[in-house]
Amino acid sequence: MRIHEYQAREIIRRYNIPTPSADVASIPSEARKIAERLRAPVVVKAQVLVGGRGKAGGVKLAQTPREAEAAAGAILGMEIKGITVEKVMVAEATKIARELYLGVVVDRRARTVAVMGSPEGGVDIEEVARSSPERIVKAHAHPMLGLFDYQARELALAMGLDGRLLRDFTLISRGLYQAFIECDASLAEINPLVVTDDGKLVAVDTKMVLDDNALFRHKDFEALRDPSDEDEAERMGRELGFSYVRLDGSIGCMVNGAGLAMATMDVIELYGGSPANFLDIGGGARSERVAAAFRLLIADPGVKAVLLNIFGGITRCDEVAKGIIAALREVPCALPIVVRLVGTNEAEGRALLAQAGLASTTSMVDAAKMVIEKARD
Ligand code: GDP
Ligand code: MN
Repeated sequence: MRIHEYQAREIIRRYNIPTPSADVASIPSEARKIAERLRAPVVVKAQVLVGGRGKAGGVKLAQTPREAEAAAGAILGMEIKGITVEKVMVAEATKIARELYLGVVVDRRARTVAVMGSPEGGVDIEEVARSSPERIVKAHAHPMLGLFDYQARELALAMGLDGRLLRDFTLISRGLYQAFIECDASLAEINPLVVTDDGKLVAVDTKMVLDDNALFRHKDFEALRDPSDEDEAERMGRELGFSYVRLDGSIGCMVNGAGLAMATMDVIELYGGSPANFLDIGGGARSERVAAAFRLLIADPGVKAVLLNIFGGITRCDEVAKGIIAALREVPCALPIVVRLVGTNEAEGRALLAQAGLASTTSMVDAAKMVIEKARD
């Protein structure tokens, strides 16, 4: 889950990272009032969940409250990479001497967290990464002990910092690492981390991505969610209590059990098809859940055929078949459907499906081949 700059800023402040005073506005006159309160030149910044706002005209300096109002008027409603700006952050403007980069990411290859720094921060960091990767320095944190002081100092030295800046950088990088860990983030980035003209470090732009799979540990983060940033079907899935992940294939998968759902996707791939989603509807297959899952799958226009892969363990297959038939009565589905049904009472279950005109099999391979064929038609 991506969060907005003004939200990420609140988080890193709790880790004693200096940030400019700021507040959020959704109409221009509010922006003016914030600028009046701050009693200083301000920067007005679009709050959208994409990078490159500066280059798109979404970051504007304003010397007076009137200018701040005008800047907010220009930025609010603007489209940046297809997203309409609905909020701006008005922050005390920082006098910039140098722009640095500081980022914390999961480094899968190293199986730990990497802290990265560059003396060439700012809007062209991607270009630096491409053309002069040696200008980006990296330290790997210890999985249990975290980022050591000496590592932070080495980063600072490699970035050309010394004296007070080196000490402050050490605190800021360790603070950002701590924020990353405690929030279960997958990315925490300050770009630019600014050296001000009076020799202080200030986090001028903060970005954080939180790990969706850890959100259950942070009930308070739910309030940070921007509904416009979430896939509609994934939101529905989450609210229904399904594990649902949208993919870009053509075969909608509805499976009971996460392991079986993974295997189903693998088998579809193996025979040349492509799954449109991962969906675990959980144990059993009561008609309400099947119906809800159908609604989810049908909402994806990429789905050309549906595969139900059900293993009837505790739930009897005839009950499952009745559930599927009832669900289809409730949610008419014009797409071809293939059911693979095995387990207790499977013969009875399949007979019921056949009466209702639904193709079924007990073989996962056959089911995959059948559904791939139907998705092609
Ligand atoms: P991004 O383009 O989405 O990454 O937005 P940033 O907040 O990083 O702003 C882009 C650029 O605008 C920065 O790299 C700075 O050069 C400039 N900028 C942002 N805030 C300030 C500020 O307070 N003062 C000055 N002088 N420049 C700023
Ligand atoms: Mn930035």
